[in-house]
Amino acid sequence: CGIVGYIGHREAYPVLIKGLKRLEYRGYDSAGIVLYDGKDLKLSKTKGKVSDLEVIAEIESTKSGNIGLGHTRWATHGVPNDVNSHPHYSNSGELVIIHNGIIENYEPIKKELIKRGYTFTSDTDTEVLVNLIEDVKKVEKCKLGKAVQIALNQVVGAYAIAVFDKSKPNEIVVARLGSPLAIGIGEDEFFIASDASPFIEYTSNAVYLEDEEMAIVRLHKPMKVHKIKDDAEVIPYVQELQM
Ligand code: GLU
Repeated sequence: CGIVGYIGHREAYPVLIKGLKRLEYRGYDSAGIVLYDGKDLKLSKTKGKVSDLEVIAEIESTKSGNIGLGHTRWATHGVPNDVNSHPHYSNSGELVIIHNGIIENYEPIKKELIKRGYTFTSDTDTEVLVNLIEDVKKVEKCKLGKAVQIALNQVVGAYAIAVFDKSKPNEIVVARLGSPLAIGIGEDEFFIASDASPFIEYTSNAVYLEDEEMAIVRLHKPMKVHKIKDDAEVIPYVQELQM
C-alpha cells in the first residue's frame, strides 16, 4: 500500500503514476488517482494493478491537472473492488482523501454520520474519515487543516493520509500516525509519498513527518507542520536525499 501526491506546476499524472509504480513493492490490491485541473476533480480507480489504472485513466481521460493524489490499497475494511478503492470523496464531492492504515473506531463514527444524513458508497473506514472531516468543517466552520486535526483527534487507529479540498485548491493537508509519510520540497512544488523513491528524481530535499504530526503544503508558501494533538508548531527538519 502506498500514497503519492503532487502540487505544483508540472502535469501531476505522470509523477503520480511513476510514483505509484515505485511503491508497488509495498504490495496492494487496487489503485486510484484523482486530479484537479483547475476546475474539476477527476477520479479513476480500479481493483488490480497500476498498469490497469493507466488503461482506465486513458479511457476516462482523468490525466490533466497540476494537483493530484494517488493510492495503492491493501484492503483492511471492505473487499478489494473498484468502489472500495481510493481515493474517496466526501458527500459534498468537495473533499477527497487517500489513506493507508486503519480507522479502528469507524463504526460508531459511521453510525453517527448516518444519523446526521451522510450516505456511504463503499465499505471502507476511509470513507468514514473523509465525511467526518467534512462534518467537522461544516459544524466548526473552519478551514480544512483545522477540520482534519479535529477529526483525527476523534479517531483511533493508524494512518498516512492526504486530503484535498476543491473549495480551497491551493493546498494539500497530510498527516501520519503509524504509517510513513515523506514530503519532497521543490521550487514552488511539493511531492507527497510513503517514501522518498517517487520524488527523488525531482528534488533532494525531503521532510519525513513524525508520528502525530500533520502538514499543510501550500502553493507559493512554505509548508506548515504541527502536532495533531495540539497546535504546537514543528520546525520541519529538511533532509538531503542521497541518490
Ligand atoms: N483501511 C483502508 C481501506 O481498507 C486503507 C487500507 C490501506 O492501507 O491501503 O480501504
